[in-house]
Amino acid sequence: MRALVAGGAGFIGSHLCARLLAEGHEVVCVDNFVTGRSANLASIARHPSFALVQHDLIDPLPPLGRFDEVYHLASPASPPGYQRFPVETLRVNSEGTRHLLDLAAASEARFLYASTSEAYGDPLEHPQREDYRGNVSPTGPRSMYDEAKRYGEALVMAYVRSRGVDARIVRIFNTYGPNSDPNDGRLVPNFITQALHGQPMTVYGDGQQTRSLCFVSDLVDGLVAAIRTPAARGQVINLGNPDEHTVFDYADLVRELVGSASPLVFTEPAVGDDPQRRRPDITRARELLHWQPRVGLREGLAETIAYFRRELLDPALPEVR
Ligand code: NAD
Ligand code: UDP
Repeated sequence: MRALVAGGAGFIGSHLCARLLAEGHEVVCVDNFVTGRSANLASIARHPSFALVQHDLIDPLPPLGRFDEVYHLASPASPPGYQRFPVETLRVNSEGTRHLLDLAAASEARFLYASTSEAYGDPLEHPQREDYRGNVSPTGPRSMYDEAKRYGEALVMAYVRSRGVDARIVRIFNTYGPNSDPNDGRLVPNFITQALHGQPMTVYGDGQQTRSLCFVSDLVDGLVAAIRTPAARGQVINLGNPDEHTVFDYADLVRELVGSASPLVFTEPAVGDDPQRRRPDITRARELLHWQPRVGLREGLAETIAYFRRELLDPALPEVR
């Protein structure tokens, strides 16, 4: 089988490429490295079934051959990342999605679009089910991401309905693990790097906002199950771990697991519209995909801390960037 992973040099995409190669498939990663890192591909770069195509998906695709599976994970994903590249984020989720859908249509490939829990905005329903339409500002400081993903979802459904493409949408909830960028500003990389360096841990606002964190290996299992489940065609499916905690509790737990004396400092709330509560209802994923997360929070954080310890603190290893 031949798979295209758009955004394969990123955090989640690099794990997906490794997983597909381990299953014996041929993998083509398309990435422009706007937020991705070559270090994420170090362990697979020389694999005989792996090819990297450096390309901006905003532009029409070069000839790539035909594929059985097309995964679209290409998009800046951290709030500082998409706020630094607002127009690029809108374009890769609109024009980029269209280019990849056209390729899937021409290949008669299965297609998976990585949408996000941000499609629910700052949710007024809790936990979030797929039929909740969300509370999103079309012009707010997160709109370049939230609305880009909502447009991408609409485009996917148009191709399903009018062009017969075998596509599905997954709404990914906060995911963490090795290969995440220590500098991308997200909760887990920030707290772990701060704790490892003995620096103050920056809790935005009062830290009472919640998130539900999913370990990356579980998430990748969900992506693969979603693209290979025929009944998922034309469906929207939440993928995430419903284990919900406050941001304050995550900071406290990371500090304990690192064994750090870092103080927790309360800073200004995150720039605008920081969702106050977030937890996926994963009934649909359980029933349709027979999928549910298996890695517990302490176990997943311990593995992630070990990764950051190696990457950041061992001078014998290459720089992370
Ligand atoms: P990431 O930033 O680590 O990876 C995204 C990859 O896409 C990067 O390698 C980047 O260089 C590439 N990319 C971006 N724009 C591109 C373009 N125009 N052309 C080619 N490549 C481009 O992010 P991630 O955390 O791995 O997220 C992967 C996907 O999952 C994203 O679509 C994101 O929106 C979605 N998602 C992630 C999370 C999460 O918690 N990590 C949550 C919800 C949704
Ligand atoms: N957060 C924080 N300190 C940090 C980074 C993030 O308190 O150093 C909070 C942020 O305000 C949000 C949550 O952690 O409430 C998750 O933020 P992240 O950027 O990881 O992703 P989001 O879920 O907002 O997309």
